[in-house]
Amino acid sequence: MFALMQSSNVETLHFIVDPETGLKAVIAIHNSKKGPALGGCRYLAYVDEESAIEDAIRLAQNMSYKAVLAGLPFGGGKAVIMRPAHVPNRAALFESFGRFIETLDGRYITAVDSGTSSADMDCIAQRTQHVTSTTEAGDPSPHTAMGVFAGIRTTALARLGSDNLEGLRVAIQGLGHVGYALAEQLHAAGAELLVSDLDSGKVQLAMEQLGAHPIACEALLSTPCDILAPCGLGAILNSHSVAQLRCAAVAGAANNQLSSLQVADHLENRGILYAPDYVINSGGLIYVALQHQGEALGTITAHLSRIGLRLTEVFAHAQAEKRSPARVADMLAERLLNVG
Ligand code: NAD
Repeated sequence: MFALMQSSNVETLHFIVDPETGLKAVIAIHNSKKGPALGGCRYLAYVDEESAIEDAIRLAQNMSYKAVLAGLPFGGGKAVIMRPAHVPNRAALFESFGRFIETLDGRYITAVDSGTSSADMDCIAQRTQHVTSTTEAGDPSPHTAMGVFAGIRTTALARLGSDNLEGLRVAIQGLGHVGYALAEQLHAAGAELLVSDLDSGKVQLAMEQLGAHPIACEALLSTPCDILAPCGLGAILNSHSVAQLRCAAVAGAANNQLSSLQVADHLENRGILYAPDYVINSGGLIYVALQHQGEALGTITAHLSRIGLRLTEVFAHAQAEKRSPARVADMLAERLLNVG
């Protein structure tokens, strides 16, 4: 565990077990040089404790990079709660997690993530004020989708020579909170949608409301399209799946899309432009961070509109240095984290 902490430069790990509520959780604080660590709380079933801890560490590092590149005065952190097979009282479990966060004295601020909801954040808020994305604060997903939409325009311009999305074929994997909102914006901009989701009801809705073409889940990655937008879970890009891609660019919301950094080089070698996930999906973090600081919606929207610009900078560096945008984004983030 210490070797993993060292190799990913994580500052601290914090653990809790509360037999009364069934809470078993870890909080990873990756970097707090720029401010308190801010990052979502996952509530998922894991095969073992090691994979839960590794997930927390990897995601916390991703949050540090996301925050620093977005110019936010926050560090990176992430919480993982191992979802028990049976939960007698979900509210009590999240309240217990809130008490745990409170013991960290504001060094970690939590938010909604996979498996959690604003209602869970409300329970946490009973015990600590170091929580965002409560029912009152609002869901960050529409803001994430807004940023991804802007990023898709930037990616289209960089790879295809135009940011006009009219007639562009965009394949979306996952029509959840972000994916569906993104699909709506792409549809309004005239893009042709190819969609898949494990939940056939969401696909049906996209067909009816947005004229989307349904694609079987196992066929989406190899479907011919201009832009592939992964909006489901992470690690979908590996050497096997990249060999099957038939798109010009990958630009989507999912966190940790690359199973390893080497995969970014495979994409580069295949001439597929990759929009680094933590740059293009930073809209949700920007929203929760600035909203937590009490900023007005106008300020938040102005900040969100800079996502496309940041992506343009990353693509320009990558082209000049003939390196993958993923490697360039990591390098820029690490450089910024080590300044000041
Ligand atoms: P969500 O749980 O609401 O939606 C995910 C959707 O993907 C679900 O409908 C699920 O059925 C579908 N899905 C999962 N695996 C799939 C597969 N293999 N094929 C097809 N569909 C699949 O999650 P969300 O909030 O929309 O987030 C989506 C992704 O974006 C996640 O990786 C999340 O970490 C990332 N992200 C979300 C936000 C946010 O503000 N919600 C911010 C940044 C990053």
